[in-house]
Amino acid sequence: MVRDLVVIGGDAAGMSAASQARRLLGVDELAITVLERGDTTSYAACGIPYWVAGLVPHRSDLVARRAEVFRDKQQIDVRLHHEATAIDTDARTVSVRDLTSGAELTLSYDDLLIATGAQQVRPPVDGLDTPGVFGVQTLGDGQRILDAMAQRSPRHAVVVGGGYIGLEMAEAMQLQGLDVTLIDLAPQPMTTLEPELGALIADAIRTMGIDLRLETPLSGIEAGADGWVRAVTTPGGEIATDLVIIGTGVRPRSELAAAAGIPVGPSGGIVTDDHQRTPVDGVWAAGDCAETLHRVSQLPVSFALGTIANKQGRIAGLNLGGGEGRFPGVLGTAVTKIHDLEIARTGLGVREAEAAGLSVEVSSITAGTRAHYYPQSSEMTVLLVIESGSGRLLGGQIVGGLGAGKRIDVLATALWNRMQVEDLVQMDLAYAPPFSPVWDPVLTAARSAAGNAGRDAGKDAGPNAR
Ligand SMILES: Cc1cc2nc3c(=O)[nH]c(=O)nc-3n(C[C@H](O)[C@H](O)[C@H](O)COP(=O)(O)OP(=O)(O)OC[C@H]3O[C@@H](n4cnc5c(N)ncnc54)[C@H](O)[C@@H]3O)c2cc1C
Repeated sequence: MVRDLVVIGGDAAGMSAASQARRLLGVDELAITVLERGDTTSYAACGIPYWVAGLVPHRSDLVARRAEVFRDKQQIDVRLHHEATAIDTDARTVSVRDLTSGAELTLSYDDLLIATGAQQVRPPVDGLDTPGVFGVQTLGDGQRILDAMAQRSPRHAVVVGGGYIGLEMAEAMQLQGLDVTLIDLAPQPMTTLEPELGALIADAIRTMGIDLRLETPLSGIEAGADGWVRAVTTPGGEIATDLVIIGTGVRPRSELAAAAGIPVGPSGGIVTDDHQRTPVDGVWAAGDCAETLHRVSQLPVSFALGTIANKQGRIAGLNLGGGEGRFPGVLGTAVTKIHDLEIARTGLGVREAEAAGLSVEVSSITAGTRAHYYPQSSEMTVLLVIESGSGRLLGGQIVGGLGAGKRIDVLATALWNRMQVEDLVQMDLAYAPPFSPVWDPVLTAARSAAGNAGRDAGKDAGPNAR
């Protein structure tokens, strides 16, 4: 008998799952229908800032695989412009609206995968629908920003939100030749990092010529006589602008699931087990809309990260295809950059560790990204969050020049393997002058942290300059 799999959401998690399930089961065993309310499957939202910046020439460059390819090569019935509007978990049906014709239809499923992603958290002000105010979530958003730049030749942009999307869009606007003001209600950009690193980022952003205004919430949007945005208002006054980019974060898009009685957890994501199953029979969830386990805090979390969405989609697809896969949880490892400043984090920050009931120490060092005598070495700061007493690594954060950011992967690997800072000190990492000092900054950070706590296993580790 042919089973019916319906997938809601045709991007990273949904299409990974559909492809993986199809690899395991042919059309005579599994019929797969994907509902995608947009016009594209498998698109790289992560690439939007670089496309808007002009670094990626074509919208199509951001599409990994088009709907036709899924249809022709994998016999996956992808229905674009189709929105799931309700789920009945007793009847095992999904109500669907064809956004092109307006027709309503009902699909039956044996298994349902919810992969509806995340939605923007919009600041609580009027006027966000004013022409010239843009979100950055879909390829359509990117196209609208590019169209506005082509048609109106803007000179000034206000970016609202100093998280990673805000920073990436601030860079994009600068690369397009606009003057940029970046506002954030918090006292630092990148609030997921410790204040010490937030201050470094703030200084660097200002040096880049961006007018960074912290503790500056958006309080309104003003339109000009032609209806196009003219200014944003803040408690400190009005900022005249030609474009506004909203980058104020996202949250799991879990309303459809919640309305159907599918449990949503404290993080706002759909509750899943390590197979990506929800507690409701036959219903699965993966990607930004799903809640998962943090490997360090052991608490439920939701992260909007493409890395996690692709992996969870694959695990869901393995299990839906009759195989066996387990999702082992996350560390929340993330990296971004603004011009030459690279920013990364993994694991727990101080607030998160304390919220998990852990007692922590913080240790940070600043070192060169390359040997001090090699050209173009720049500074990088590594901050480690360590459990007091045990010396267990709980988290790491990095801010620095070229080559700094991806070093977070060493810390993520250490965290994944529950290492202590002493173990990290001894790790055999590669060295040559163009790549790092002989003691890589990550090792120096671990050595300093171990030393601070009187646990300096690295003190006899050899010369520190070559
Ligand atoms: C500008 C930007 C930059 C980013 N950069 C990075 C990065 O550098 N690194 C990183 O790891 N992550 C990054 N991300 C996050 C990453 O893009 C997401 O984590 C990833 O796309 C999540 O995949 P998903 O399949 O869970 O959800 P989505 O990609 O959001 O896909 C969900 C899909 O479901 C569809 N949908 C929703 N509701 C319905 C419905 N009711 N019916 C039918 N269809 C529906 C939506 O149209 C959407 O296409 C970035 C995101 C953005 C927006």
